[in-house]
Formats: sequence, C-alpha cells, structure tokens
Amino acid sequence: ILAVNELAMSFGTLEVFRSVSFSVDRGETLGLFGKSGSGKTTIGKCIVGLERPTGGEIRVQGANILNMGKKEFRKLRPKIQIIFQHPETSLDPRMKAFENLIEPLKLHSGLKQDALFKRGEELAELTGLRPEHLARYPIQLSGGEIQRIVLARIMALSPDFIVADEPTSMLDVSVQAQILRLMQKLQRETGVSYLLISHDLEVLRKVCHRIAYLDNGTITSIENIKRDVKR
Ligand code: ATP
Repeated sequence: ILAVNELAMSFGTLEVFRSVSFSVDRGETLGLFGKSGSGKTTIGKCIVGLERPTGGEIRVQGANILNMGKKEFRKLRPKIQIIFQHPETSLDPRMKAFENLIEPLKLHSGLKQDALFKRGEELAELTGLRPEHLARYPIQLSGGEIQRIVLARIMALSPDFIVADEPTSMLDVSVQAQILRLMQKLQRETGVSYLLISHDLEVLRKVCHRIAYLDNGTITSIENIKRDVKR
C-alpha cells in the first residue's frame, strides 16, 4: 500500500536523512525505530504531506504523492492519517468529546444529523468509549481516553494507512497496552496499515510485523517479527 523510495530530507545545511526506503503492506504494522533526532517524525510528516522531502518518492497504491496534483492529493488525504504523541493537539478543546469525534464525519461524509450521530455512536463503541466520556471536554479526559477519541475520529474516515508517531509514549504502561490492543483490533477489523514510530523496542516487538531501523540517515536493517499479515 505504501512504498518509500530513497527519501532524503535536509533542513538548510542539516541533513536529517539521505536514503530511506521501506514499504508497508495492507494490514501490516511496520515499526520505525531510531534514536532521538534521527528523523522518524519527519518521515511520518512527509508521508502525510506535512513536510516536503528534498529527494526520493512516496508511493501510495503505486502513485507518487510528491508529484501529484493538488486535487488528486486532496482525494487521497483522508485515507492517510497521522496520530501524534500528544493526542490532545488533534482535538478542539472547546468541543465535547462526541462533537470532536463526529467533526470529520460532518466535514467529509455528507451524512444527515441522525445518521451522523448513529455512526458517531458506532465509532465510540468500536473504540471502547463510554457515554460519560463523550459528554466531557477533552481537558476532563485521561490521556488514554483522548487517544481513543483521536482514533475514533480517524477511523470515521476509513483510512488505509495511519502514521502513529509515539502514540502511547505519554501513557501509563497499562493504558499503553490497552491502546495498542485497540489499534490491533482496528487493524483486524478494517485492514488498516500502520507505520508505528517509537523509540521503545519492547513496544514495537509486541505489535509490529516488521521493524525498520533508522540510523545515520538510512534504514540499516528490517527485522521480521511476525510472519502473518492478516489481509
Ligand atoms: P524524537 O524521537 O526525539 O522525536 P525524531 O527521530 O522523530 O526525534 P525528528 O523530529 O524527525 O526526529 O527531527 C530530526 C531532526 O530534524 C532534528 O534535529 C530536528 O531538530 C530537525 N527538524 C525537524 N523539523 C524541522 C524543521 N521544520 N526545521 C528545521 N529542523 C527540523
């Protein structure tokens, strides 16, 4: 579903990476491991179009997004999502959790009020959110609950691919495991693929099918963890 070929990125004279290549299959979780400052987040941002790399290509279902027209990219955009370490940055603090959850549906689905609410409730159930969570403002929710809302919001757009940038590193270990299990469940049910960015190898080994190691500006190795990718 995604192929990154010889991606290069410099900020002025700072070369962050020079030749990064990997691919991710449908329904696969590829881990991306590297030390702080190695460029993991920048790679994720390039994939979703938040940064423009200085070289290489990023192919989504075969098409290079870097020389795509604006219109074509806009169509693809909802299918490639990103979640960040600080999930609250994706939510509007002035809207209750449920309003935050249905916001993308409002913008993109064209559903009428009743259908919109129904779909919102389905997504809340899918992500393990309870009614009492939905009635609160983001600031009244725990980190794990916020990450569930962010996931529910994203799943509303039926994404093919999610860049998950340290999605659990701000959470307690027990909540971390819950969110990782939820991500795995969503993958089983929808076939979504993940690029899971982390500096925590233990987390990556638990959930990834393969792990790509980023070092010195390039992918130095790709480790197979689990053989089967359920498609
Ligand atoms: P961490 O694990 O600490 O989050 P990372 O591997 O994700 O690190 P990046 O956030 O991708 O690393 O940053 C890689 C390098 O690029 C860093 O030195 C950072 O300061 C630099 N950098 C990132 N974004 C920009 C930018 N927009 N302008 C200039 N330099 C940047």
